Amino acid sequence: MRVLIVEDNRELAQLIAKRLDQSGFESDRVDTADLARQAVETVDYAALVLDLGLPDGDGLSFLRWLRQQGKALPVLIASARNGLEDRVSGLRQGADDYLAKPFSVDELIARLHALMRRPRKMLGNVLSAGNVVIDSDKHQVNVGDRVLPMRLRETALLDLLIRHKNRVVPRRYVEDQLFGIDGDQDSNAIEVYIHRVRRQLLDAQATVKVHNVRGVGYMLFEDKNPANMN
Ligand code: CA
Repeated sequence: MRVLIVEDNRELAQLIAKRLDQSGFESDRVDTADLARQAVETVDYAALVLDLGLPDGDGLSFLRWLRQQGKALPVLIASARNGLEDRVSGLRQGADDYLAKPFSVDELIARLHALMRRPRKMLGNVLSAGNVVIDSDKHQVNVGDRVLPMRLRETALLDLLIRHKNRVVPRRYVEDQLFGIDGDQDSNAIEVYIHRVRRQLLDAQATVKVHNVRGVGYMLFEDKNPANMN
C-alpha cells in the first residue's frame, strides 16, 4: 500500500517515509499543494499525511478539493496548528484524524494503520465481528439473522469497538467519539452504554464479548462460546 506525504519540511517527510518503509508501506513525498493534486490524480493512494502550512497554499483547501473530487482515502492531518478550532475545522473539511506537531513518528504510523483498517465509504459501510454485523448506513445491527433493537449511541459504540477489534480502545477516545469534544456526560455514561451493549449481545448469543480493561478502556474480541459472557 502506498501513502502520499504532503509536507514541505523535507527532513520530517523523509523521516516519515523511512518509518513507513520499515513498517511495510511504500510512500511518495510532495512539498506543495499543487504537486499533491497531481500526485492523487495519478496514483490511487491508500492514505495521505497532510501538513497544513504549505508554500503554495493551505492544506485545508487541498483537502476540500480532494473530497470534492470524490476521493475517499483516509487523510491524517499532521500540523503545528493544534488549537481546538483547527482540529475541528480539519475534521469538518474531511480529515479522518489530526495529529499536532511535534508528534512521535511512531504515533503517526500507528494512527495511519488504524485509519487504513477502517472500512471506507466506497467499500460500503458494513462491518462484522463473529456473528455480529453492523450496517452503519442503516444503523442496523444483526446477530445472525436477528436484528437487535439498538439505540443510535449503542450502535455507534459497537461500531467503534468492532473497528478496533482485539485492541483496547481508550475510554477517553470512546467518550470523544460518542459524545463529541464538547461532551459533558457524567463519568459513568459510558459504563451504562457498555452495559446495555453487553446485555444485548449476550441475549442474542453473539460470539463477541466486550472486555473492560480496568483504568484503560474497552476491548471487543471474538469468543465462540457466548455462555462465557461475564
Ligand atoms: Ca509546513
